[in-house]
Amino acid sequence: MDYLPIFANVRNKLCLVVGGGQVATRKAGVLLDAGAKVRVVAPEIDPELVKQKGVEPVVARFEAVHLEGVTLIIAATNDRSVNKQVSELAQARNIPVNVVDDPELCSFIMPAILDRSPLMIAFSSGGASPVLTRLMRGKLETLIPQNYSRLAAFAERFREMVKTRVTNPAKRRIFWENALEGVVAEKVLTGDEGSAEAMLQQMLQSEDNIQRGEVYLVGAGPGDPDLLTFRALRLMQKADVVVYDALVSKPIVEMTRRDAERIYVGKKRNDHTLQQEEINDLLVRLAKEGKRVLRLKGGDPFIFGRGGEEIETLAAENIPFQVVPGITAASGVASYAGIPLTHRDYAQSCMFVTGHLKDGTMNLDWAALARPKQTVVVYMGLHGLDTLCSELVRHGMPDTTPIAIVQQGTTQNQRVFTGTLATLPAIAEREKPQAPTLIIVGGVVTLREKLAWFHPQNS
Ligand code: SAH
Repeated sequence: MDYLPIFANVRNKLCLVVGGGQVATRKAGVLLDAGAKVRVVAPEIDPELVKQKGVEPVVARFEAVHLEGVTLIIAATNDRSVNKQVSELAQARNIPVNVVDDPELCSFIMPAILDRSPLMIAFSSGGASPVLTRLMRGKLETLIPQNYSRLAAFAERFREMVKTRVTNPAKRRIFWENALEGVVAEKVLTGDEGSAEAMLQQMLQSEDNIQRGEVYLVGAGPGDPDLLTFRALRLMQKADVVVYDALVSKPIVEMTRRDAERIYVGKKRNDHTLQQEEINDLLVRLAKEGKRVLRLKGGDPFIFGRGGEEIETLAAENIPFQVVPGITAASGVASYAGIPLTHRDYAQSCMFVTGHLKDGTMNLDWAALARPKQTVVVYMGLHGLDTLCSELVRHGMPDTTPIAIVQQGTTQNQRVFTGTLATLPAIAEREKPQAPTLIIVGGVVTLREKLAWFHPQNS
């Protein structure tokens, strides 16, 4: 270890920033955030900085006298000899000093920070690689969302109460681990502190009720793992059991916690590994065993995903759950295929419909679908493609209307087949697109030629 990491209390203490430019302004900002008073010394000082509350501007060249009464110093001038002078004078007086980007002159270094106050994460590569530090920061940002502030504040609020109620320190630690990893934490993170508090109280009442199961109904997006939300990723790494179906891409399933149990519940056409009711019951059973269950679904759980039915069962059984939206196929696939779903000249509205055949027929409002100046996106429509095209034409859509089939959109295997209502069925017959496929109908499809070139995934 090259440095001792500590958190300094500078509230109401006088700190010195030497320099008046952008870097100095940024450093002064951090000190002000931590409640310090900041003396800024420079021949010229950024007027924005002068205006800030808590700043004592001294328009002058740096001199030893400016060190008087100072607890901590940051030198941020672009003149190394001045920085060196500040450093030497400070160190002679045992005042901690940091010189920006010059570790040799520092008695302490400033870490990168992730501020989730009261939770504060500070880290540093000790000057070895600032870029690596920045990349790390990006990773931590995704793992520790903004609302952890709320969670830390919540824990602080109940700390004393829990201490008096759970007196055994070992038990208290387990209590907090359960609260901060489980349902209570999820309630706080989604902004429902009322329920969180009620659950915390319940946990305090009965010591066995410590671990409660819950279900996360999470949209995994259309395939590319980059399209996951931060929350999806966080819950994927937290869940004890993962229940996923055919639409969830393999790389995404592999991003779930390593030691989590993975249960495949299928649902390809005509091969229903588990019936919907069985899936609903499975979720209930697992949650009742006290597990954190991740129900991972392709796209968005509430768009042709039967997510509504799954949470109805959970609600009826009083099992806590949360729903995390995902990028639905229409939006993810269309953008990767270079097809805007709306466009001033071609479509002022967009409809999402399911082409799933019931008793061999497609039960859709054809007149509404055939209206001009709109885009129609058909999920689960490949098997009804012939019907789709002929019915649209029968209801007044020109048979020259552009239409596209996108196979396995956003993945490595994405392919786009385009034609018209008259020609596409034959093209599909010949090319045999692989599931899942999405159909997009409307003038916007022609924009693909103009827009698609920039996307590497396009065939
Ligand atoms: N809840 C999902 C849709 C489930 S229905 C969502 O919001 O996206 C399943 C249908 O979605 C598939 O038959 C197909 O039409 C479409 N689909 C899902 N992912 C797709 C992908 N990567 N490429 C093309 N179509 C996709």
